[in-house]
Amino acid sequence: MQKEQKTTLVWFRNDLRIRDNHSLFKAQARNERVIALYCFDPRQFAQTRFGFRKTEKYRAKFLTESVYNLQESLAGLNISLIVVNDKPEKVIPELVELYKIASIYCQCEWTEEELSVLQKVKYNISPDIRINETFDQFLYHPDDCPLAIEDIPRVFTSFRKSCEKKAEVRPLSPEPKIMVLDNLLPKSWAIPSLPELGLTDFNTDPRSAFPFKGGEDQARKRVEQYFFVTKKLGYYKKTRNGLLGTDYSSKLSSWLACGCISPRQIYWAVKEFEQQQYKNQSTYWLVFELIWRDFFKYISLKHQNRIFHLGGILQKDYPWSVSEEEFSIWTGGRTAEPFVNANMTELRETGWMSNRGRQNVASYLAKDLQIDWRMGAAWFESLLIDYDVHSNYGNWMYVAGVGNDPRDRKFNIKLQAQRYDPQSKFQNRWLQKTLF
Ligand SMILES: Cc1cc2nc3c(=O)[nH]c(=O)nc-3n(C[C@H](O)[C@H](O)[C@H](O)COP(=O)(O)OP(=O)(O)OC[C@H]3O[C@@H](n4cnc5c(N)ncnc54)[C@H](O)[C@@H]3O)c2cc1C
Repeated sequence: MQKEQKTTLVWFRNDLRIRDNHSLFKAQARNERVIALYCFDPRQFAQTRFGFRKTEKYRAKFLTESVYNLQESLAGLNISLIVVNDKPEKVIPELVELYKIASIYCQCEWTEEELSVLQKVKYNISPDIRINETFDQFLYHPDDCPLAIEDIPRVFTSFRKSCEKKAEVRPLSPEPKIMVLDNLLPKSWAIPSLPELGLTDFNTDPRSAFPFKGGEDQARKRVEQYFFVTKKLGYYKKTRNGLLGTDYSSKLSSWLACGCISPRQIYWAVKEFEQQQYKNQSTYWLVFELIWRDFFKYISLKHQNRIFHLGGILQKDYPWSVSEEEFSIWTGGRTAEPFVNANMTELRETGWMSNRGRQNVASYLAKDLQIDWRMGAAWFESLLIDYDVHSNYGNWMYVAGVGNDPRDRKFNIKLQAQRYDPQSKFQNRWLQKTLF
C-alpha cells in the first residue's frame, strides 16, 4: 500500500448516483485517491417494536440493485465501491486506519437515526478527519431557500410561492471524472443477497404497477421513457390520481428516495421537455409535486423529532388506539372497505401503492379506526419501495390531522372508490382470487 498518498472517502447513503452528486464531485476535486463505501446497516433490516421488519424485501431488493449499479458506474471512473453488511461506525474507523483516509464526504441527513450513526462514526475516528456533509437531496438548496428554517410556514402554498418567486434551482454539477487507475482495492465487493440480509427472495408480482429495478441507469431510463419517448409527462396532471398500470404517474419516487436521481435532474429534464415539446399544466405539476417533496424535508428540518411524535408538529392531543387486532385487520386488508383492502393488498404483494391509495388507507387507519398513525407509518416504512422518512412521516402527519393540513380532512372512502375506481377494476385486480 502506498502510504504517502492521501485518500478521500465518499460514504454513500441516500445518494446512490454518480451524476449530480456533490459529495463525489467535491471528493474528486481534491485530486487525491478516492474510494467509496456503502453499508447495508443491519439495524435497517431488523425487527421493529411492532413485530415486523424495518425494511422488507421490496425496498431491500431495489437497494441492492441500486448499489450494484452504483458499483459498476464507479468502477467506470476507476473508483472502488466497498460494500459491507455492517454498521458504518464499525467499518469507517477500520477503513480510515487501513487507507489513511484524511477526509470523508457524504450527504447531510438530519433525522434521528442517521444523526446517531454519524455521531458514532465521529466518536470512533480522530477529530482531525473532516466529515464534509452536503445537502444534495433538495430541489431548492437550503442555502437558496428564501425562508429561514424557523420561518418555514405550516401551509404548503406559502412555502411554494415563496420558493417559486425568490429561489432558483441550481444547475447540475459537472460530470464526474475518470480517476487514475489504482490497485489499492480489489475490484469487486459482493453485494449481499436478500437471504444474506435476512429476507426472502421473490419474483415481482405480474400485477405490479412498479415493476422497475433500482439504479441510476434505470432512473434515467424512466425519465427518458416517461418524458421523451411516450410523452406521458404532458398528461401527468390528468392521470396522476390513477391506480392501475405503470404510467399514471412518473413513478420516480423510489429512485429519488435512495438518490439514484436528484430532484434537480428531474427539474432540468422537465425544462428540456418544455423547450423541445411544449409547456402545460402537467409539466408544471410534476415540479409542483417535487416542491411538496422539498416541503416535507423543510418541515422535518424545522421540527426535527416532532415529526415522529404522536401529537405531530401541532402537538395535538387526540385519543388514539393501539389495538393490535384492528391494526392487523388493516395491514391484512380485511377491513370493511374493499377499496382500503385492495390498496393494502397491493402494498403487501408489491411494495407499491398509488398516492390516492395511500391517502385513503392512511385516513382510514387514523380517522376511522383512530389507531396510532405512527403504526401505519411504520408499516409503510417497512413495505414501501419508495420509503422516504420526510415524505412518509410528513404525509402521515398531514392525513392524521397533526401536521400541515389546515383543513384536517377525513376521506369518504366509498365516495373515493366510486370516483377513482368507478368500475372496480383496481379492486378486482387485488381482491379477486386468482383462478387456476
Ligand atoms: C400516507 C402517505 C405516505 C407517503 N409516503 C411516501 C414515502 O415514504 N416516500 C415518498 O416518496 N412519497 C410518499 N408519499 C407521497 C406520494 O404518495 C408519493 O411520492 C407518490 O405516490 C410517488 O409516486 P410517483 O413517483 O409516481 O409520484 P408523482 O405523482 O409522479 O410525483 C412526482 C414526485 O413528486 C413527489 N411527490 C408527489 N406527491 C408527493 C407528496 N404527497 N409528498 C411528497 N412528495 C410527493 C415524489 O417525489 C414523486 O416521485 C406518501 C403519501 C402518503 C399519503
